Amino acid sequence: MHHEIVIIGGGVVGLAILKQLTCITKIASQSILLVEAEKHLVAHASGHNSGIACTGVDAPLFSLERALVRDSISLMRHHNKVFNLPSRPVGSLVCDWGEGEEGRLEGILEHSLMAGDCDDEILTVEEALALEPNINKSIRAALHIKNEVVVDPWLIPISYASHAVENGAVIKKNWRVKGASFDGEAWTLTSSAGEVITATYVISATGNHGDSTFSLLSSSPAPFANKPRKGQYTVFKKTSLLTRPLQPIPTSRTKGVFVFSSLYGNVVAGPTAEDVEEREAATTDAATLTMLKDTGIKCVPELGKAEIAGSYAGLRPATTERDYQFHVDALRNFLSVASIRSTGLTASHGIGRHAASLMTSVFGIKGEEGREVKVTPFPDVEEMMKEYRERGDGMVEIPILGECFVTHPITQIGWGGKLMEY
Ligand SMILES: Cc1cc2nc3c(=O)[nH]c(=O)nc-3n(C[C@H](O)[C@H](O)[C@H](O)COP(=O)(O)OP(=O)(O)OC[C@H]3O[C@@H](n4cnc5c(N)ncnc54)[C@H](O)[C@@H]3O)c2cc1C
Repeated sequence: MHHEIVIIGGGVVGLAILKQLTCITKIASQSILLVEAEKHLVAHASGHNSGIACTGVDAPLFSLERALVRDSISLMRHHNKVFNLPSRPVGSLVCDWGEGEEGRLEGILEHSLMAGDCDDEILTVEEALALEPNINKSIRAALHIKNEVVVDPWLIPISYASHAVENGAVIKKNWRVKGASFDGEAWTLTSSAGEVITATYVISATGNHGDSTFSLLSSSPAPFANKPRKGQYTVFKKTSLLTRPLQPIPTSRTKGVFVFSSLYGNVVAGPTAEDVEEREAATTDAATLTMLKDTGIKCVPELGKAEIAGSYAGLRPATTERDYQFHVDALRNFLSVASIRSTGLTASHGIGRHAASLMTSVFGIKGEEGREVKVTPFPDVEEMMKEYRERGDGMVEIPILGECFVTHPITQIGWGGKLMEY
């Protein structure tokens, strides 16, 4: 079968683009297909992040990343409401722990205000302790970033998939694109199992494989190279010690190790920021997990009494370029979306809209106003948790999609299951 558009990659980026494209009538009435190499969606970076919808305090002002993060803030809230997805909109605290960081909070506040986060404010020690009574009393000040939201990092991309399929898209898993050729009008894509599909347009959203997919599709080399950055996490058993994510003062290289309570009450310390060669599976090591545990206890001393629930690691799809990389090849009918390193969950609505607007403006694919988009909200999360625990096979029934494997450790542990390999 011939498809109008094929998206390669079933992480949060590919799924957000798929969802956005199915909101445009003319595109939806043609055929849109997403292919994912793994047997489950959300298997790689998108299934191993922190689950914080941030405001992008470490993204350079006026970068595309910061703009798309901002574009997404209110859309994310609306989406979570419409799909009945749980979230904790409590903001986060950038903490000055008195380690030579004097004056830095003011600089971050100034950037936040310029980016439009006008409610953010610097708190005194007393105000910070009033919000988070269990944090280390050695804190000197904190910046309250009020628009940051703790979310379920698995349910959000899965809700995009459910929405897209309900509105006409098709998703094929276990379909790794291995070969591609363009005859001047259409693409022929071949899978590693030898299956063939054709498409007029191709969108690449392959995370840590963005550069190699670009090279496969393009007649020129990729203008960026992937440089995965690993983040490891230590997860504590559920406690009520913390509400807001605590973040250190970011540097130009990293946001640093956060200590935060997941949506389900597990305090998590991480992620690290390690440049690595591996692109597929991220590993943890004992020394780093101990360092993370100690960091958690340093920030919230009572965590010293809490047990460890597990650990995990993810690979950020960073590249040689600091900003998001959107590249359109108008002669070969393809769009590459890459370098969505550490804010892709947050910015996913903006990324989807930006990609869809490039498809319409560059390729002349016209959307139509007033399309009626169907929405089936998800069951209450308590119901899904119950089903997940009772089944014990790592799966849960999702509207429209049917049985789905829960890939994210935050959701797996938070829903009362154990960490499951897949
Ligand atoms: C440690 C860590 C912490 C993070 N914390 C946050 C956070 O708190 N908030 C936030 O907003 N963001 C966070 N992020 C960033 C966010 O998770 C990423 O920006 C986002 O997941 C990138 O999504 P993606 O779809 O580009 O990549 P991926 O999720 O990796 O998806 C790419 C998909 O493409 C598939 N694929 C690759 N090659 C092929 C092929 N040839 N054929 C078919 N399919 C293919 C892969 O199997 C994969 O499923 C974090 C990331 C990490 C790793």
